[in-house]
Amino acid sequence: MKPDQLLRPMPAGLYCPAGDFYIDPVRPVARALITHGHSDHARAGHGAVLATRETLDIMDIRYGEDLCGSMQAAAFGERIDLDGVTVSFHPAGHVLGSAQIAVEKDGLRIVASGDYKRGADPTCAAYEPVPCDVFITEATFGLPVFHHPQPKAEMGKLLTSLRQFPERSHLVGAYSLGKSQRVIRLLRDCGYDAPIYIHGSLARLCDYYVSRGIDLGDLRPATLEKGDPTDFRGAVIVGPPSAFADRWARRFNEPLIAFASGWMMVRQRAKQGGVELPLVISDHCDWPELTETIRELAPSEVWVTHGREEALVRWCELAGVPARPLHLVGYEDEGD
Ligand SMILES: [Zn+2]
Repeated sequence: MKPDQLLRPMPAGLYCPAGDFYIDPVRPVARALITHGHSDHARAGHGAVLATRETLDIMDIRYGEDLCGSMQAAAFGERIDLDGVTVSFHPAGHVLGSAQIAVEKDGLRIVASGDYKRGADPTCAAYEPVPCDVFITEATFGLPVFHHPQPKAEMGKLLTSLRQFPERSHLVGAYSLGKSQRVIRLLRDCGYDAPIYIHGSLARLCDYYVSRGIDLGDLRPATLEKGDPTDFRGAVIVGPPSAFADRWARRFNEPLIAFASGWMMVRQRAKQGGVELPLVISDHCDWPELTETIRELAPSEVWVTHGREEALVRWCELAGVPARPLHLVGYEDEGD
């Protein structure tokens, strides 16, 4: 069996004809396998959805009743037969519940890694290398210029700022699924034990992380009950970056805007977004992690998707690994 008989790129996403399912389809389909809960991968409206318990719960929190027709939870490592195709889910280290999906038939195994990272993250299960014939990798930060610093060192910048500007409210922009919980956990691991205030849109996901055993410490709603902005003097407030553009942000005392994202490596992006304190914290592989993962797995072929496909394809070719870009559209990660 040739790899593209088992899995092939289609307008709706990666399709397996033998098992009649899609992985992370961008439009409604009869049967979808979902790698993780970010909105560009986990969309509502499919017939049947197979994903990890956490991803299903996260989709339920985000979409409620419109979620899908039926759901099935896959445990990590469990082998599930779909019309003669064996599929299994393995930790991807990206956000809580995130999985790589291995698809096997007639001795051929393709691993679709979804979004993944190799760095330590106590808010989700660590990436596990899965030997395979074809490895499908993301390339969000697929350029040699991308080297992510140590997350705790980035958090140190926030703690330094809090000491330097004790009167200012520190507003930390972080995407609602994964990044915001990771930022909060990182702050706790750096010894910050004061209350952390969260935007209302983060509350259910933070509660869910806590219910899955991830201790986020003292979280409180970032609402001004008596309308006194000095209530938040020197406090850390975490919210989605979109909230910082509206009136919500202006109510705080001398707000200092920080933003936790892999894109904060690009100075221009930070400047354009009015970010005073860029924090380079990413839930994706940087360039060394991408290339080391490909070396470690040593697959016979690499397929590259979402991001800077061409540079990684070129690197693979120079390393002697056949590679191709998939040109899938519709994946603009909300959790970078
Ligand atoms: Zn993602």
